[in-house]
Amino acid sequence: MSLNFPNEALSNMNSHPSTPDMLVRMLDSMTVEEKIGQMSQFFGYDEQISEHLAHSIRQGRVGSVLNEVRLDTVNELQRLAVEESRLGIPLLIGRDVIHGFNTIFPIPLGQAASWCPETVKKCAHISALEAATTGINWTFAPMIDISRDPRWGRIAESLGEDPHLCSVLGVAMLEGFQGEQLDKTGSIAACAKHFAGYGAGESGRDYSTTNIPENELRNVYLPPFKAAADAGVATFMSAFSDLNGVPASGNKWLMTDILRKEWNYKGFVVSDWESIQQLTTHGFSKDNKDAAYEATDAGIDMEMVSSTYLDHLPALLAEGRIDIQQINTAVKKILQLKWQLGLFDNPYTDASLLPIPMNSQHLQIAKDAAIQSCVLLKNDNDILPLSADSLNSVAIIGPLADDPYEQLGTWIFDGDSQHSQTCLTAIEQELSGKASTHYVKAIETSRSYDQTDFKQAIESAAAADVALLILGEESILSGEAHCRAEIGLPGCQEQLIDAIAKTGTPIVLVIMAGRPLTIETVLPKVAAVLFAWHPGTMGGPAISDLLFGKASPSGKLPVTFPRKVGQVPIYYAQKHSGKPATEAAFVHMNDIPVHSPQTSLGMAATHLDTHFSPLFPFGFGLSYMQFRYQNLQLSHKVLHLGETLTVRVLLTNTGDTYGEEIAQLYIRDLVGSVTRPVKELKDFKRVKLAAGASEWVTFELSTDKLAFYDRNMQLVTEAGQFQIWLGGCSQTGPQDEFEIVDA
Ligand code: BGC
Repeated sequence: MSLNFPNEALSNMNSHPSTPDMLVRMLDSMTVEEKIGQMSQFFGYDEQISEHLAHSIRQGRVGSVLNEVRLDTVNELQRLAVEESRLGIPLLIGRDVIHGFNTIFPIPLGQAASWCPETVKKCAHISALEAATTGINWTFAPMIDISRDPRWGRIAESLGEDPHLCSVLGVAMLEGFQGEQLDKTGSIAACAKHFAGYGAGESGRDYSTTNIPENELRNVYLPPFKAAADAGVATFMSAFSDLNGVPASGNKWLMTDILRKEWNYKGFVVSDWESIQQLTTHGFSKDNKDAAYEATDAGIDMEMVSSTYLDHLPALLAEGRIDIQQINTAVKKILQLKWQLGLFDNPYTDASLLPIPMNSQHLQIAKDAAIQSCVLLKNDNDILPLSADSLNSVAIIGPLADDPYEQLGTWIFDGDSQHSQTCLTAIEQELSGKASTHYVKAIETSRSYDQTDFKQAIESAAAADVALLILGEESILSGEAHCRAEIGLPGCQEQLIDAIAKTGTPIVLVIMAGRPLTIETVLPKVAAVLFAWHPGTMGGPAISDLLFGKASPSGKLPVTFPRKVGQVPIYYAQKHSGKPATEAAFVHMNDIPVHSPQTSLGMAATHLDTHFSPLFPFGFGLSYMQFRYQNLQLSHKVLHLGETLTVRVLLTNTGDTYGEEIAQLYIRDLVGSVTRPVKELKDFKRVKLAAGASEWVTFELSTDKLAFYDRNMQLVTEAGQFQIWLGGCSQTGPQDEFEIVDA
């Protein structure tokens, strides 16, 4: 039997796959086994292509391979598929390209702190270009799970706590990956993950159960996915987690009713790693066959790594539990993506057509992104920026000052730490010929408790004008399955700060971390804090430029920083409650008289042992400039449903150098048929202002943007009174009110 082109139609299609009609004809000529093969993703990543994988490809039993990144091997996999399988269908080659490929950009949470869609898009575009040099044509990103729990390790991979910010940046990221057209060299398919609710796991433990009322799901967790679907993301990934009793990978309501029927999404859904098989572990399916049934019936089109589809779909079909139409629908979408990627025309990769990874332009963009991502949390007496010319001696201390690997963060399988530029190197270069530098690692790793080298660190700090402490979390302390119950500085880092503080030398603390950290007790001991997340390959030069004033910090927090982990979940868009926390009602437990009667104190939504406010609110971030917001103006005080409110404010850079500020527009819908958050971000803009310059910053707010899901799960804008703020943080800025009346 000929392995290729069993009939004329197919032969034509393989040479000229120019219309989707041909895909339909291809589908018609496929055997059931070949169709199920397209729905199966195999794990690559062996030194050599295993006989099992090669055989399965030849048999048409493989639709996609993930985690193979050697160009020759990938081209050989494609050759096996195209030349040695009966139908010659090329493969999707998947990989987690999350925040860079060889060049590593700031972790996604850091990129989110840039509040800059253009930057996020550029980073994703370069990631795609570099990944494509190895034949990868599909990334499992962006992760657009709303993340309100800093204990969760994957918050590092998220775009933060807010539905609007996450939607805008998630779309920017997928557009960066997918480029103008999927079949252009260097474009790769994106994947909106993890559908849905994965970020809301109990106590921030990865993979744990989520219970999210439908109203909250629709108003908070689903909007970024809807935005991604509308923006044409090629694929979705189902979450590992159990959503309200039905694991996502077997959740027909999510995958079919919402995604396909309500949103009319046309791309395909891949499961997460073995998450179909895990339906049995969840106690949702009684065996793998049942799991294959539930997942197919729910609308999971491709199975990642486990083989329940390959093993059981033929029998499920024969028994009539699954209809061939369900299989056809899945396979058509998978073939469609291969066609859109141009793989039927040319499945092979010629790396010479793409830019060389880690070239100077890629590194420059990585540096710019890191600069925009850093958030200045504290700057007493304007200690920053440091003036290199007026310093004699600088102590550089800490386990993350010179660790090329740890500054890269989680999910950097292909990152090249040999190219990382560390803080130590960059600062030494900056100060060369101007001031002396003394580096002491002081602690072996961010986690260690050995204080042997403290003495040296104290001596070098005591002799210096300023001590730069580069501390935080190693990469492995965040990311998948790397959750923490305590989120302070790990190991003996706080003791190190205590010891250095005693020298009297001012401390500038730079923190690299994959999540917000509880640093309330650290703050009084240091003069400045620059929060750099895991800044990536060019973290060192970016941080050095910020410390020495070649650039001004402009990042803003995409997630609330708690004072204590017990405040979690703490996020700005909370509901008001019937007894909201107020200063007047707040009593600290230390101030409660002994033997107080039960009812006399508090009576508000607060804790007794910490203030109810966060340590740093969402949207917060200092700069070396001062930005003044004045003259908030609304085009209407009353507007009808369907109309658009124009809002503007005069923003002035009162500083003496160029600076960038993120203007943020928040509203509060005062009364709703379901209660509304105390504030909701509706728009934002990164504004560039020369020293002393002013600019009117204008936003258009249509009443549609004020819509929310009501009790009947209808998307509505309700008439009523609204408050509006326009400022540089979720807690500040001039405020006004407007009213919406029925049309
Ligand atoms: C993660 C996904 C990832 C997949 C493939 C899973 O463990 O949850 O986000 O894309 O592995 O590596």
